[in-house]
Amino acid sequence: MPRDFLKGAKDEYDVVVIGSGLAGMTSANILGRAGHRVLLLEQHYKLGGLATWFLRPGGHTFDISLHGFPHGMIKSCRRYWNRDISDRIVQLKNIRFDNPQFSLTTTFNREDFTRLLTTDFGLAPQTVSDFFDTARGMNFYDDQTTTTRQLFDRFFPGRDDVVRLLMEPITYANGSTLEDPAITYGIVFSNFMSKGVFIYEGGTDDLIARMKKELEANGVDIRINCGVDKIDVENGRVAAVHTRGRRIGCRAVVSNANLRTTILKMIGTEKLDRSFVEETEAVRLNNSSTQVYMALKEGEEIDESSGDLFFTSTSKEFRTDRLLSRDITSRTFSFYYPRARPDKKKERYAIVSSTNANWSDWADLSEEDYKASKADLVETTIDALDNYLPGVRDKIDLAEAATPMTFNHYTQHEMGASFGTKFEGLAVSRALPQQVGGMYHAGSVGIIMSGWLGAINYGVIVSNEVDGQLTSESSHVG
Ligand SMILES: Cc1cc2nc3c(=O)[nH]c(=O)nc-3n(C[C@H](O)[C@H](O)[C@H](O)COP(=O)(O)OP(=O)(O)OC[C@H]3O[C@@H](n4cnc5c(N)ncnc54)[C@H](O)[C@@H]3O)c2cc1C
Repeated sequence: MPRDFLKGAKDEYDVVVIGSGLAGMTSANILGRAGHRVLLLEQHYKLGGLATWFLRPGGHTFDISLHGFPHGMIKSCRRYWNRDISDRIVQLKNIRFDNPQFSLTTTFNREDFTRLLTTDFGLAPQTVSDFFDTARGMNFYDDQTTTTRQLFDRFFPGRDDVVRLLMEPITYANGSTLEDPAITYGIVFSNFMSKGVFIYEGGTDDLIARMKKELEANGVDIRINCGVDKIDVENGRVAAVHTRGRRIGCRAVVSNANLRTTILKMIGTEKLDRSFVEETEAVRLNNSSTQVYMALKEGEEIDESSGDLFFTSTSKEFRTDRLLSRDITSRTFSFYYPRARPDKKKERYAIVSSTNANWSDWADLSEEDYKASKADLVETTIDALDNYLPGVRDKIDLAEAATPMTFNHYTQHEMGASFGTKFEGLAVSRALPQQVGGMYHAGSVGIIMSGWLGAINYGVIVSNEVDGQLTSESSHVG
């Protein structure tokens, strides 16, 4: 008999959370902790969404999206998860860049960037200081018509090299471009500049295991392999979700699935205002990624001077379309030393190369061409790495690639979007509860709310709203 993944699940909960990405899990945790009856439904067999990992023979573990996040994660994890988690967050001190315009190493914070911009790049200290203050002063309610390109033109006209230093890591971190609103750049950049780049020591597997433990301690009913196909709306309010042929009633739903899928497929357009449907249809997805995972043979090592995060490019100038092109010029290497998983008995070194990518470059290939393109991606990436670590090819035990198709397969994000939607998705996500009572969305949208910290913080914001709704309904009933 097939396993019943919903065995023992109730017919009704206060709130159902669809999807166990960082936003979904954080919402579920806060709501469970507040005493609400919470059901967390995940379509995959693992929790974590894009915050995930995989194992390969030989004692190798690969992290998918553990490359770096801002210092703010420590506070968010301490408040909304626990100290066990927040105490494992450590700084990456060795961030490197190499491209035809410059080669440098930095701790990636305001102090060190000021040093670089005023000495190596020869900018006036006042200009640099004014730029940092302007970026830090930006907030969501600011003017949204100024683009990031206009912001750079204002402070650093004609300085493509400066733009590259300031922009390339952020484009990599959330897919934003020079054409996106400047606030999306300013907020994310300033988050990083406050103290640098941080990482979770122990690996994504350790983090998600600790989050699962905390969710269980807070009474959240967690179900994997339970995809939601449909959300029932009755009299303008959410009434239930459908999963694995069961209808489960609820007073609120938090969807962590892709925004467009949630609204256009799970709720369905007929229950919504035409203008809201049109607004949703106009929301652009963010780009996807490719990655190459490389593990070293037992006993082989990488010198720590290789750095932690290494932004490389062979392109003469910085152009967003080049960053996405299948003809790859930019690769960001993350080096994982044994200290990344201090509790593991086997000492292992791994390198993950990430590049932003277009869905269309992968989705329409024949099976044969797809396989060949993946093999080419692996080979050309090892070649690129070999330029920096001569002889590394012979030290590699195994190497494999993920493409936009892989990300789509595991998370069901349309077009394998790595960072949810473009900026306009945020307004649609925020407006959803006004369209359908009790219906919320929390997950990567609008650049600001994506990435590990953005997703967790959005989960916090939304769960507070759900808590407000559930608490006020209970007090009315009481
Ligand atoms: C290659 C790559 C590298 C990255 N690197 C970094 C990095 O270094 N730092 C950083 O901060 N961020 C990074 N990110 C981004 C970061 O991982 C994501 O922004 C964040 O994890 C997204 O969290 P989320 O809550 O939006 O949900 P997601 O992780 O997108 O999860 C959504 C969940 O919903 C589930 N789901 C979907 N549909 C259904 C359904 N119908 N029913 C039930 N469940 C469903 C999915 O299976 C998934 O578990 C990276 C992303 C990628 C792809």
